[in-house]
Amino acid sequence: MTPGGEVVVALDVGGTGMKCALVRPDGATVHAERHATDAARGPEAVVGTILDVAEGLAGKARADGLTPVACGIAVPGVVDEARGVAVWSANVGFRDVPLRDLARERLGLPTALGHDVRVGGLAEARLGAGRDAGHVLFVAIGTGIAAAHVVDGSAAVGAHGAAGEIGHILVRPDGPPCGCGRPGCLEAVASASAIGRRYAELSGAPATAAEVADRAAAGEPLAGRVWREAVEALADGLATGQALFDVATIVIGGGLAQAGPRLFDPLRTALRERLTFHREPRLVAAALGDEAGCLGAALLALDTLAKESR
Ligand SMILES: [Zn+2]
Repeated sequence: MTPGGEVVVALDVGGTGMKCALVRPDGATVHAERHATDAARGPEAVVGTILDVAEGLAGKARADGLTPVACGIAVPGVVDEARGVAVWSANVGFRDVPLRDLARERLGLPTALGHDVRVGGLAEARLGAGRDAGHVLFVAIGTGIAAAHVVDGSAAVGAHGAAGEIGHILVRPDGPPCGCGRPGCLEAVASASAIGRRYAELSGAPATAAEVADRAAAGEPLAGRVWREAVEALADGLATGQALFDVATIVIGGGLAQAGPRLFDPLRTALRERLTFHREPRLVAAALGDEAGCLGAALLALDTLAKESR
């Protein structure tokens, strides 16, 4: 480590935990720490923790002879990146929190606020599994399904900060209800939670998506059926994504990606069956794991810094 080297203070705030790091401009993490979000305390207390942790990291950088040059914060929900406002979040409880300005004031550093999945996609596209692909669709499949469309290292935000909500593509009009209020959305059929729910509904016994994958691989017919249904729905969603974006690489992240070949082999086949004239994208697992959000927050902060100094 070069003494006096520049670092970015990066935080990825989730519903249960915060992943925090000092990241060098080349994407290398020089220090990492984790804290509990403890969202039950309410959004004000969570904001207090975010600011304390960010300030602590900047102090740690200086104590180690490094120079903090910017701060990047990623949060879930609806994020207005242009205004730096955490507009709405179901699991953290944010309602119009001007987090960017609060952090900028506290730290005295240029600060960027980003959406957790979009910055995760940014990191996978620039440093991870989508490296050198140019056009990347990052799809995170966990309790929900969300995506980021990254072109030449920049993630599309959308006119209202809501680009990439691939989980709410309609795939089964007569399907189960989605959290958004409409039946048949992709995430109501194929998210990790939806897979567990569907299996429990049919078998009467609770199971996680990982257990359903295991049982399907072991030849249990019911698990096989639930897994197949989810893979087919995912392929429908990804085929729509490919029709819209024509990417070189689709990177799958989130908990479901850990099913490995049990997910990727049938998904690749099902996607191929759905493509006609569209080129088949490379379908790969995310490479950065749960650090993607934190690295992406750092990249977003560096991008903002570069824009501001131009
Ligand atoms: Zn929906």
